[in-house]
Amino acid sequence: MEEKKPKKIIRKAADQSETTAPVKGGSTIGLRIGSAVLWAIAIACEVLCILLLNGTLYVPISLMTALIIGIVIDLICVVVAAMLWKKANRIKPMKKEGTKVGFYLWSQLGLIMAIACFLPLIVILLKNKDLDKKTKRIVAVVAIVAMVLAGALSIDYDPISAEEKASAESLIEGDVYWTAFGKKYHIDEDCQALANSNTLYAGSVTDAIEANRTALCAFCARNHEIEGELKIEGAE
Ligand SMILES: [Zn+2]
Repeated sequence: MEEKKPKKIIRKAADQSETTAPVKGGSTIGLRIGSAVLWAIAIACEVLCILLLNGTLYVPISLMTALIIGIVIDLICVVVAAMLWKKANRIKPMKKEGTKVGFYLWSQLGLIMAIACFLPLIVILLKNKDLDKKTKRIVAVVAIVAMVLAGALSIDYDPISAEEKASAESLIEGDVYWTAFGKKYHIDEDCQALANSNTLYAGSVTDAIEANRTALCAFCARNHEIEGELKIEGAE
């Protein structure tokens, strides 16, 4: 039998603001304002592209170049805005109770905005009859690819509710562990699901959730007899 190599554990440095800030989780206002500003810039880019298409706006460069620049800036803003939005939702999630639809709309606002920042432009572009065929085809492909990419990067694949986060934080004390690619966090560093992982990251449950590991591993939940409103997912 090969001897087991010890795992390398990288501990998250204690957040200094946590000891001084009275509110656990900190403020997310900056992140939310950042998202709103970026979404506003993205919408502005879309509007400018539409004005270029219908001839209201004139720029001294080729129409195709101008449209593609607009679409690329739109894409960057939408993707970064959704990243900030998801980060804010990890730090301070919305309650699910009583507002299930509201919770999903809030969690997936990034996806909704990605569609809003591209779909109207795509529809107007495809309806345009003045544009030459080549420009129309190229710009349409770029815009559709941008929308798909923006949508895929903006979806919150593992949303967590305020109740689930509070339940996890109250039921699990001490450090939890996660890996670079795993989607869950673990209570035991020698959990069977971590057998092939040599490098682990350690921190509180709050840290794990902020690191986008929103569910507890099912093996660890069973071993520690943890049940509650928190998210538990089976290990693959
Ligand atoms: Zn585990």
